[in-house]
Amino acid sequence: MADKPNERNAGIDTTRPSIARAYDVVLNGKDNFEVDRAFVAEIVKVIPEIYDVAAYNRQILGRGVRFLSGQGVTQFVDLGSGLPTEENTHQVAQRANPESRVVYVDNDPMVLAHGRALLAENDRTAVITSDLRDTEAILSDPAFKSLIDLGRPVAVMLVGILHHLHDDEDPRAIVEAYMAAVPSGSYLFITHFCASTQESRDAEQKYLALLGTGRFRTPEEITAFFDGFELLEPGVVPLPLWRPEGPVPGRLTVGQQLMYGGIAYKR
Ligand code: SAM
Repeated sequence: MADKPNERNAGIDTTRPSIARAYDVVLNGKDNFEVDRAFVAEIVKVIPEIYDVAAYNRQILGRGVRFLSGQGVTQFVDLGSGLPTEENTHQVAQRANPESRVVYVDNDPMVLAHGRALLAENDRTAVITSDLRDTEAILSDPAFKSLIDLGRPVAVMLVGILHHLHDDEDPRAIVEAYMAAVPSGSYLFITHFCASTQESRDAEQKYLALLGTGRFRTPEEITAFFDGFELLEPGVVPLPLWRPEGPVPGRLTVGQQLMYGGIAYKR
């Protein structure tokens, strides 16, 4: 995609890679720039399967939202939602129940720019351009308040995002703030880069060097985000192993172990 003046005006920095646009590259999207593609080319050198990893993440996002809809959840807060792609949260949730409401939160201005058209005719979905670390601002945002009834169960989704927060940003406190705001009967859905192989640790270093952010955590550290909630079967596992809807791989490849995920229930 060319660098257009209207994108510069919208606060979109085309001189440095952005997480949302790099993710768009690995999802084979068109909403990215040369700088993002160059970043992904560096990551491919370390993790040749990175495109597959993005696909596994989108697949578990779909399975997770279908599972939550099956539990009767009709409110979803998708934090670090990314650029619109195929099978976005509101499409999966509203297919299961047309009444489902979805609030997307992302700090990349391009997400709003591209989400607007998609959501123009959908009054049960909103995009908030904000930093998800600013929990109070999000929970009190008029768009959030108009769509999400905090008296009813909510699915709090932190899919593919907590590994962009460093420990000194206290991601655990951020998780707790959202989960404290939602009532019992709510759910927490997390996927996260996992430092379980040498390749993943090399990839972590690339992320840090090129993006300035990246903190891959161990399975135990990822599981700790769910402390205080009832972790549902099969627990925190490599993405392809979480409630698969098709055949399960026998021996997992490096890419299949690069991200872990799980869902927990708030009693
Ligand atoms: N959740 C989607 C998924 O799993 O398919 C997209 C994940 S994408 C890898 C991470 C997204 O989080 C990007 O769109 C990025 O802009 C956004 N993001 C990163 N840091 C953020 C922050 N502090 N506040 C809000 N969004 C953030």
